Amino acid sequence: MKVIKFGGSSLASSVQLHKVFDVVKSDKDRKIIVVSAPGKRFKEDTKVTDLLIDCAAKALLGESTDALFQTIIERYSGIAQDMGMELSIIQEIEHNLHQILQSDKSDPDQFMDLMKASGEDNNAKLVAAFFRFKGMDAEYVNPFDAGLFVTDEHASARVLPESYDNLFALRERKGLVIFPGFFGYTKAGEIRTFSRSGSDITGAIVANGVQAELYENFTDVDAVFAVNPAIVKNPCKVDELTYREMRELSYAGFSVFHDEALVPAFRAGIPVHIKNTNNPDGSGTRVIRERDASNGPVVGIASDDGFCSIYISKYLMNRELGFGRRILQILEEAELSYEHMPSGIDDLTIILRENQLDAKKERHVIERLKHEVDADQVVVEHGISLLMVVGEAMRHNVGTTYRASRALSNAGVNIEMINQGSSEVSIMFGVKKEQEHQAVRALYHEFFSSVPVS
Ligand code: ASP
Repeated sequence: MKVIKFGGSSLASSVQLHKVFDVVKSDKDRKIIVVSAPGKRFKEDTKVTDLLIDCAAKALLGESTDALFQTIIERYSGIAQDMGMELSIIQEIEHNLHQILQSDKSDPDQFMDLMKASGEDNNAKLVAAFFRFKGMDAEYVNPFDAGLFVTDEHASARVLPESYDNLFALRERKGLVIFPGFFGYTKAGEIRTFSRSGSDITGAIVANGVQAELYENFTDVDAVFAVNPAIVKNPCKVDELTYREMRELSYAGFSVFHDEALVPAFRAGIPVHIKNTNNPDGSGTRVIRERDASNGPVVGIASDDGFCSIYISKYLMNRELGFGRRILQILEEAELSYEHMPSGIDDLTIILRENQLDAKKERHVIERLKHEVDADQVVVEHGISLLMVVGEAMRHNVGTTYRASRALSNAGVNIEMINQGSSEVSIMFGVKKEQEHQAVRALYHEFFSSVPVS
């Protein structure tokens, strides 16, 4: 049995939906279909999820939502009309969205989650109706009925372990299961969404639950590329990579697959196959437990901006018991999560996502760090980009860090910091945002310039 997930751009129009139908029909093992909300039909288009977020924001402000309501409904009805389907399904969707808009708004986060989740929920109903219209035995399954339970956090829920056992029963369903992505229910029966692009997560959870042999993730690119094609033209494609490599790459800016989605697949050892709905016969990229390392030590280079660093130094820091704990406690109390913490004998640097800090919080944290740990120096630097050179085979190769830093030095890039964990899956470089693209090109050239572009 295969679980197959389609992203929003694969479900944005009737033309795309016909492709989805052909993909599903061509393999009888494709039994459970996880769907996103309709995405962009063209580059400047707006995703239905973004329309729903705008609509919810207006409703919360007490402003009129009529125009946005119509636009959202037209996205679904446009698809149904082009297919020549009966419009009763659209009436159902319209009624559902209307009811949500009328519902209690005393908890704005709860209301926002409800609105966002309706994008996938109603699309799953539409897709199920379309498959039936085309003569297939297909049913929409609600995540609550299937037992997909999640934690209480709004917009960033996490799956509760019992869900996996509950979802196993989906195997018994006779026809195709059409399952909405992006959300689950708390034990109290309230909707919570995953973080953005979270339908990938639903697909992985369902694949784990039903113990699928494969999790196919259909999107709108042919494969995962070794580097961001917006930075390096025509980069080579990656045929295979491990879960850990994919996790590192998607953490640092590879948007093809949600980084949180790997965990459920990884735990159950289910291979993930990333493919293109517009080119289903292409070989795509396989994410697996182990790969052979014949294609060199580095599998990909990722980069992401929007980081800042807090540099803390104190003479004889290494001898002071509890120094690190006190720093981390200050961060925790300020609700700041950190990404990396490279350290020296008398100093350490904490790297954080910049968007967590406003000027007031920054001042507050610096004051506390200066006084409570009695630091000699606390310096915050903004505008940092992180580069990740990723590849498990680095472990068996000598000189990868040397090659990377030489390439950066030859390109005139100033390395602000380096971090390499003992797992040796990746080497991280911190550079100034202005030098990010230059650095990525230099690294790509170093590790991939002799690899044929496919
Ligand atoms: N529709 C949601 C989003 O745009 C979830 C998804 O597509 O995976 O973030």
